[in-house]
Amino acid sequence: MKRILTKEILQKYYSSYFSLEPLIKVIGISKFQNREFGFLLIDNGNERFIRNMSFKTPSELVKFMALTGVKGAYVGAMYDPPPRPSLSVTKLKWIGRELIFDLDLTDYDDIRTCGKGKDHVCPKCWPLVANAAMFLDETLKDDFGFKKIYWFFSGRRGFHAWVADDITRTFDEEVREAIVSYISPEEHEKNVLPLAYQKRALKIYTKTKLTDTMLRKQFKSEIEKIWSELMNKLPRIDKKVTIDRVRLLRIPGSVHNATGKIVTEVKDLESFYPDDAPDIWSIMV
Ligand SMILES: [Zn+2]
Repeated sequence: MKRILTKEILQKYYSSYFSLEPLIKVIGISKFQNREFGFLLIDNGNERFIRNMSFKTPSELVKFMALTGVKGAYVGAMYDPPPRPSLSVTKLKWIGRELIFDLDLTDYDDIRTCGKGKDHVCPKCWPLVANAAMFLDETLKDDFGFKKIYWFFSGRRGFHAWVADDITRTFDEEVREAIVSYISPEEHEKNVLPLAYQKRALKIYTKTKLTDTMLRKQFKSEIEKIWSELMNKLPRIDKKVTIDRVRLLRIPGSVHNATGKIVTEVKDLESFYPDDAPDIWSIMV
């Protein structure tokens, strides 16, 4: 039997099972009333997307989600004055936003090798996105020094990362672009990647630990061959999501409208597999 995500089941989930705790852990409570929220709503059977919304308190937000049975729930940046539906946030003063990343298995369709085509998750394809997440996580910590990094299963075929160190909220689009370009180099930049970056890629993607001896003796031959094979696997970040400061991202703990899965926090990127994330039906039995 095909399970359908009805407004009634969503209302029940958001009124009795949902918690804003994971979101508050990431965005904090300061200036909550200035935060933009957006929702996919079901009105008389039709879907409608609204944004430019804000709420005075977390409980008002949850109340709204429960009352309307939102089909999708998203959070954006902070603005002054607080967003309101009658006015686009682009007309308001932007005052801050965490640094976010979106990794999706669909972006690796051209290098899948399982033979099952695109648009799916399988154990053979999943490491493409899991390795990219581990690589991104380590790069953010070791090369940029970020400490508050939270990972969530996106609800379908990938991960969302929230970097919530205070300084990230002040980054303009130029800084965000510089960070994403360092992590996801363009084709022509791949020949000039820093050595630490190359070592990390070999360690995570091939489990090869590059020692100094190997570097001296073999880098030009064997290591270079391995390296050329993993170039394609480097993180393929949806750059627009990271760079555009007004973009919305799914609220942690909310339900993915296409799968019914919960946007779940992931503590261990290496062992996580999408089947581990609960869906709304399994939670409400
Ligand atoms: Zn596959």
